[in-house]
Amino acid sequence: MPELPEVETVKNSLKLRLIGKKIYKVVVRYPNIIAYPSVDDFIKGVGGKEIRDIKRRGKFLMFDLGDSYLLSHLRMEGKYFFKKHDEEINKHEHVIFDLGDMELRYMDTRKFGRMYLIKKDMVNDMKPISELGLEPWDEGLTVSYLKDKYKNKKLPIKSVILDQSIIVGIGNIYADEILFMGHINPLKVASKLDDKELEDIIKYTRSVLNHAIELGGTTIRSYTSVDGVHGRFQNELAIHGKDKGVCPICGGKIEKIKVGGRGTYYCPKCQKEKV
Ligand SMILES: [Zn+2]
Repeated sequence: MPELPEVETVKNSLKLRLIGKKIYKVVVRYPNIIAYPSVDDFIKGVGGKEIRDIKRRGKFLMFDLGDSYLLSHLRMEGKYFFKKHDEEINKHEHVIFDLGDMELRYMDTRKFGRMYLIKKDMVNDMKPISELGLEPWDEGLTVSYLKDKYKNKKLPIKSVILDQSIIVGIGNIYADEILFMGHINPLKVASKLDDKELEDIIKYTRSVLNHAIELGGTTIRSYTSVDGVHGRFQNELAIHGKDKGVCPICGGKIEKIKVGGRGTYYCPKCQKEKV
């Protein structure tokens, strides 16, 4: 599943080729991809619009079409490809944007991806964007913000850090890296984190995600970005996926446990729970 850094990489690749392009027509071959509004309204609303910009919010790509945003969530396997009009359409290409000189095709073997078309002035007040927490780089992400959000959370921090309604963009791999760098035990109850630990979560969330974006994300699972750029961040993971490995800090054995059903890697020595 593409995570925030991969979506950021896809966004940047798409921007290079799509800004200023007009969408002459859109063909929807698998209606369930369109979550909102109806397929007919989506087709009418997108047709004839120019792509002015592409932004990202959480793991949503946001195509700025002037009066509205086309939101696209890739979920498990969604990908975009540029193709010529006469190139054969394969059965996994579900939404086809006619850009005049070429086509942008949305391909999704699992069909879990979703698109929305929402008026700009409504976008922050409507699902799915209204449900999202702060971006990692938002100025509002402070120790007091996290303290307030975590104060009633009796779950392990590993589960709570994945909660997209608090901070967006921290997936399972990145969560392990952030907690490892902050020397925070993944099982520690979120409401019990002290100020230093909250500060470290903010600091390392930003540094881990920044670094992953620089390297184009990870390619764990079958993810590739639009131009086939392979993420290199997976080569730099310190802890995730390293069971039977040794901790790069203390040389101790890295352990794998399940927290809230998610595979979790940590160093029991460096991330010892302080009581
Ligand atoms: Zn260690």
